[in-house]
Amino acid sequence: MLRSALLAASRSPKARTVIEKFPPTHAIVDRFVAGERLEQAVAATDELVATGRKVTLDHLGEDTKDADQAAGTALAYEHLLAALKDTGLAAGAEVSVKLSAVGQFLPVDGEKIALENARRICAAAADAGTTVTLDMEDHTTTDSTLSIARELRADYPWLGIVLQAYLRRTEADCKDFAYEGSRVRICKGAYKEPESVAFQGKKDVDLAYVRALKVLMAGQGYPMVASHDPNMIKIAGQLAEWNKRDTDSFEYQMLYGIRPEEQLRLAEAGNTMRVYLPYGQEWYGYFMRRLAERPANLAFFLRAMATR
Ligand code: FAD
Repeated sequence: MLRSALLAASRSPKARTVIEKFPPTHAIVDRFVAGERLEQAVAATDELVATGRKVTLDHLGEDTKDADQAAGTALAYEHLLAALKDTGLAAGAEVSVKLSAVGQFLPVDGEKIALENARRICAAAADAGTTVTLDMEDHTTTDSTLSIARELRADYPWLGIVLQAYLRRTEADCKDFAYEGSRVRICKGAYKEPESVAFQGKKDVDLAYVRALKVLMAGQGYPMVASHDPNMIKIAGQLAEWNKRDTDSFEYQMLYGIRPEEQLRLAEAGNTMRVYLPYGQEWYGYFMRRLAERPANLAFFLRAMATR
């Protein structure tokens, strides 16, 4: 119930106006977001890389209906990638992009504009010597995102995609995308989805995650295991071993600010551990999804708001 309400609020302009009128203090948002400015994101990346972790940076933003804003987001990624190149961080840091932030939902030519903007970002990543992963949003965008990814992969075969285990279609998508060189992030899924397309309970989602992991680990691609769940992490390690995968043929991923000790443990054990690091001013949707994932985060948020 609570999760559904928070996820509905994450897409509601009215709820957004209320929260932004009484914004949570920086201490709360900062737990999940590295800062509003590029320099803060680069400094946080530097710190993570210095401790043996890799990074994927997300310039926050989503659902834009404004073509100038979509182009502005592509430009922000170009600046970010130039900064990663200049600071020598590009070897340890890539970027994650939401197609809805670069135009996918524009009423006219949305997909075409999103493809063009994503292509600009891929070109900047290639110039910096790093890679891009396309985040996955709600199920109404899955076909469009995978079709744009296929087009981009013709020129940038290293482009990563994301599949969400809670979608009933995902096991089949994993089979399609488990080919050599294919970078696939597998996550549980963070949006409010109807039962017709998605498993609803934790047990069913976890079982679906394990089925997806089995396909990806047995395949020829490069699985990116995005989860904080100790069971999923353990099973991923076992499947990698059974499939005789070297530690450099897959990676673990977690969100900035969540289970940092476990991130360090996995990195120190010789695994590739990548942290998803969001920055920028458009924190609302991302922040609300993090609250929805864990009731303890909501209690922490409400306590902090009450004592402001
Ligand atoms: P859960 O069962 O939700 O959580 C397991 C345990 O992890 C919890 O008991 C708790 O200890 C810890 N935990 C989980 N979430 C939190 C939190 N918010 N705060 C504190 N502790 C927490 N989703 C998409 O739909 N599209 C994407 O493109 C996408 N990209 C992602 C990229 C990365 C690197 C990661 C890690 C997640 C991404 N997600 C994405 C979110 C994902 O779908 C889940 O919503 C999220 O990871 C929570 O699921 P979980 O696997 O951690 O398991």
